[in-house]
Amino acid sequence: MGEFDLIARIRERCPSRHDVLLGIGDDAALLQVPPGQALCVSMDTLIAGVHFPLQTAAPDVGWKALAVNLSDLAAMGAKPLWATLALSMPEPDETWLDGFLDGFLALAESEGVALVGGDTTRGPMSITVTIHGVVLPHQALRRDAARVGDVIAVSGTLGDAATGLRGLQQDSAECPWPELRHRLDRPTPRLALGRYLAGRAHAAIDVSDGLLADLGHVLSASRVGASLRLDALPTSDALRQALPDLVQRHALQCQGGDDYELLFTLTDAAWLSLQAEAHRQGWQVTAIGRVEATAGLRLTLAGHPVDPPARTGWDHFGAAT
Ligand code: ADP
Ligand code: MG
Repeated sequence: MGEFDLIARIRERCPSRHDVLLGIGDDAALLQVPPGQALCVSMDTLIAGVHFPLQTAAPDVGWKALAVNLSDLAAMGAKPLWATLALSMPEPDETWLDGFLDGFLALAESEGVALVGGDTTRGPMSITVTIHGVVLPHQALRRDAARVGDVIAVSGTLGDAATGLRGLQQDSAECPWPELRHRLDRPTPRLALGRYLAGRAHAAIDVSDGLLADLGHVLSASRVGASLRLDALPTSDALRQALPDLVQRHALQCQGGDDYELLFTLTDAAWLSLQAEAHRQGWQVTAIGRVEATAGLRLTLAGHPVDPPARTGWDHFGAAT
């Protein structure tokens, strides 16, 4: 099985679509951008052993490779349309590729994304996806648009994926918390929420590196500060059971990455409307703080100021402690 057999295997599984004038098979793809919309493009790489544990099943790798990219478009308020895939693998392994495509294409199909091209090479396992989507230019959710007085809100629950990873690091054979492991392997990009927020919220970012880090990006880009209520952070039942210790839990919720939830800021009026819509749609959204004029981030617990939790999460240049 050579490079071209692998590409043929991928191509076989990619149906044609009206907005893909030319897909896999030529020197480049030709895509029809809807008039009036801005093209919104983002890229993320997953390296085996860095962005996913080595023992991760191929379908989970495929899902996650696309999910982390879709999450970036969700955070822009964009609608994803097309993906390209750069695949580097040590051996042409068709079984692995088939599994990878199962996960990748399942998510692609459910979100209406077409795989339109890519590159296939031999080398250490790494996967790079570029996602292309569209958004009305004035509605895009930028990091630099938070305003003083905005509610700070977040989707879903926080800390699950980082705790799932922690469980795996403690016991590489089996994570003691399968639900949390699932959150690590199969993040859910919050695309419908992101598109609702486009033109309604002020700023947004997806929580990939950890709540405090990602909120920090919004605050510095917007030149504002914020207060955050630790006791308001949305917590899953699985996390509550896995980490009964409150300090430990808050640390993972504040600093653990990989949740791919949306963090956004909006006016009180927009927050009220969102709550009604979230109720209709079944979205979980939680207000966790407020944007303030004074630079920096102030944390409170039960109304009292507290220091940021000690680092116990995971980062690429540090180590889990
Ligand atoms: P070129 O030499 O012109 O770069 P390639 O042989 O790399 O062409 O690719 C042939 C076609 O297959 C191109 O349309 C390319 O986009 C597509 N392709 C290659 N690898 C992948 C992949 N991993 N996923 C999707 N499409 C791919
Ligand atoms: Mg090529």
